[in-house]
Order: sequence, then structure tokens, then C-alpha cells
Amino acid sequence: MPVIRSDLPALVLDSLNYGESDKIVVFYCQEVGRLSALARGAHRSQKRFVNKLELFTFLQISYSKSSAGSLFMLDEAELVNSFITLRTDVASYQVASIIREYMLLTSRETSDDDQLFQLALWALHTLNIGIDQRQVLALFMIKFFDVLGYRPDFSVCQGCGTNPAEDTAVFFNVQSGTITCRNCSGSQGSGGRLLAPGTTKMIMAVQQQPVSRLSRFKPSGAVLEQMLDCSRRYSLNLFQRDIHSWRALKDKSSG
Ligand SMILES: [Zn+2]
Repeated sequence: MPVIRSDLPALVLDSLNYGESDKIVVFYCQEVGRLSALARGAHRSQKRFVNKLELFTFLQISYSKSSAGSLFMLDEAELVNSFITLRTDVASYQVASIIREYMLLTSRETSDDDQLFQLALWALHTLNIGIDQRQVLALFMIKFFDVLGYRPDFSVCQGCGTNPAEDTAVFFNVQSGTITCRNCSGSQGSGGRLLAPGTTKMIMAVQQQPVSRLSRFKPSGAVLEQMLDCSRRYSLNLFQRDIHSWRALKDKSSG
């Protein structure tokens, strides 16, 4: 059964040379999810897909597939936004690369997730217009866990079951994605990451909002650093894989 799709919103996640003159391009598409397609002539002759298959580019693509076993063929690509800042500004590039790695790591071919597409699009768009890169990453991470169904629980202490008071620090356990209050943790915090009350509050507020409202949050200072730190550690434990691009991101908390 032939498959044909037209004008589908898609983000370029990867692009590899294939043979003498072609490219295999990995997209994350609205409705369709991750999709790899062969772009004929894209490697040798730049004419057909000129400047369109760069990393992070936002396109509308048309593709087809002639039979079950064959490759998807990229027929057309129309530029929606090249997100040029993501390839010209170092800090934006670094954060976009982290997001790209997470998208490639967690998505499989044709398992659609519209929320994930919307989230990635929001992140790349806000990076492109120059919003604080670390802020975008922190918000992306909290929502990313949500969308994948791995929302950490910051509301209840796992030891005593109470809601920690709004003005007390708690410990975040990166293995379980849960918190423990100070009383239950003991003096050394059982190895959890200490979170200031403002961090817990911010994370829970972000969790409750849809992607379309993420831009209203402006985490900064210690709250921002703690959001990034616990997201990175939690993801490392969750996926059992380090995200290489994190290393390039300057860690302001440790100087
Ligand atoms: Zn407790």
C-alpha cells in the first residue's frame, strides 16, 4: 500500500550522507513522530533541498513510500523557519543539541506523540528568539518527563506521606523520582539532592501547565540550577545514558 503525506510539519533531527549523492534525514513530525526519509540528490546537488536539511530546521515536508519494505522518500521540503540562531549562537546550539539528543534517544520510528513535537518546537523556537538558553532547557526537561510518562513526584514525602510545607527544603531522589522531607531523610539526606522550596514550587507549577504556557515561567539563580541538576541526574538514571551535549553546557553553579 503506497503511503503519501503532504505538507507535514517536521523538525530536522539528523542528516547523514547516503551513497554518492543522497541523504538520509531523520525528522520529528507532527502526528507521525520520528521518521527517516531518503532525500535524493541532497548530498551531491544542493539545488533541490537547498539549506533545508540543516539540523533543527523547521519544515513542511511531503513524502511517499511505494511499498511496505521500501524507504520513505522525501519528495518536497518547504522552509517554515530555519531557526538560524541555533546554528550561529554557541549557547543556543548547545542547548538545541541536548534537546536533539533526548529526542533521538527516546523516540522510535512512527510512534507518534504530538505533545513531544509541540514541546520540541516550542523549545527550538524560544531558543531561536533569544530566550535564556538554560531557562528553556530547564522548562523543556520538566515537561519532557511529563510527556514521556515519567513525571517525578514532588508533592508527597515518600517517608511520612505528608506534603512538605511550602517553605521547607526537601531531598530529591534521582532513582525513584520522588522526594523525602528533612525529618525522614536524616541529617545526610540519604543521598538525595537538596532542593530549595522555590525549586519544588516552580517544578510543580510547570508540571501543571501545558506546553503553550511554558514561556510564562522564568526560573533563575539557584532554582534554575537545581532544576537543571536534578533533571539531568534523573534522566541519567531513567535512560541509563549520559547525554553528551550536557558536557558542553557551562555549569554556572560550579563555575
Ligand atoms: Zn517525611
